[in-house]
Amino acid sequence: MDLSTRLIHEFHLNNKEQAVIPPLFTSTTFERGSDGINFPGGFIYSRYDNPNRQLLEEKLAMMEEGAGCISFASGMAAVSAVFQTLKSGDHLLLADDSYFAVRNLLDILFSRFDINYTLVDMTIPEKISTYIQPNTRLIWIETPSNPLLKISDIEKITQIAKAHQCITVVDNTWPTPYFTQPLSLGADIVIHSTTKYLGGHCDIVGGALIVKDKDERYQLLKDIQKLGGAVPSPYDCWMLCRSLSTFSARMPIHASNAMALAIFLEQHPGIEKVLYPGLPSHPQHIIATQQMKGGYGGMLSVLIKGNQSDALRVLSKLRFFKHATSLGGVESLVEHRKSIEGAGSTTPENLIRISAGIEHSEDLIKDWQQALNQS
Ligand SMILES: *Cc1c(COP(=O)(O)O)cnc(C)c1O
Repeated sequence: MDLSTRLIHEFHLNNKEQAVIPPLFTSTTFERGSDGINFPGGFIYSRYDNPNRQLLEEKLAMMEEGAGCISFASGMAAVSAVFQTLKSGDHLLLADDSYFAVRNLLDILFSRFDINYTLVDMTIPEKISTYIQPNTRLIWIETPSNPLLKISDIEKITQIAKAHQCITVVDNTWPTPYFTQPLSLGADIVIHSTTKYLGGHCDIVGGALIVKDKDERYQLLKDIQKLGGAVPSPYDCWMLCRSLSTFSARMPIHASNAMALAIFLEQHPGIEKVLYPGLPSHPQHIIATQQMKGGYGGMLSVLIKGNQSDALRVLSKLRFFKHATSLGGVESLVEHRKSIEGAGSTTPENLIRISAGIEHSEDLIKDWQQALNQS
């Protein structure tokens, strides 16, 4: 069965009213049976678990072909949960172009627990093993990366990780399981900011981890969810389930719009460079084509010819592309990344990141055309 059909027809919350759409369980607490001990409904307290959360986790595990899913109140809470499974003195390898908040989290919080990392260019897998130390436990990849759209070879990297008894964690927020399924390529954990494409409408903040096996690490992550308490609300889980029903309809449009914009912008004299794995000019285009199925995702970055003020001037002329952070919603967004990443950012000053929405591609291209021609 295709993913689109499975997302709509698999997994339901049984209810005697036979509602077609799952009901929302706002109750924080659930009744014990007449024995006063057991919970015949299967739920105790909503921080531990909730019917809407269970439904969401079943759907997300299915999408990534994982054994289980642990959902969180944000993408960063999910990231943090993975680092909380490490011990003091452990070391990890982090993709040099990974989401900037992941680096900040390690620098500000986890360094206090003596958890250290090395930034590595994951586009050259052959070099990765030279960075592995005796205490390296984990390799963290993000492909395509944010905001340089670098592609790393998940299968090759997981093989290197396994040879050194490390686990591989893949941030799959950008490609989504629609285009890449890291667990089937050997990864141990997939992380999502469900705030982005899975939510799809810029109205829910959430995160999730999907694991390959229900092993000891999974049990620890469940404990971090339950006891750490950064759980998503029943309403957010309900909203996310609703969003997932249209996920397979939205994703190919995001990707074809991104491709159309990449092709248009690459030939425009006002653009210095387009970073999009779907373009043959992308340095890892071949790996991207092998690893990503059916498209290259909805994100691209462009280097505007000139400096920061030239880039900002083009931005100010765009009409449909809202100038805002985040990505993955139905509306197209643009962002000057360097100014949001702040101190320590290595992002080029003339880089604009584009989240292609699901508007008509011709309208999006025309908008860039008029903005570039005015500048
Ligand atoms: C947004 C994002 C995150 C963080 O998720 P939040 O939901 O904002 O906490 C992590 N990784 C990537 C790739 C992201 O785009």
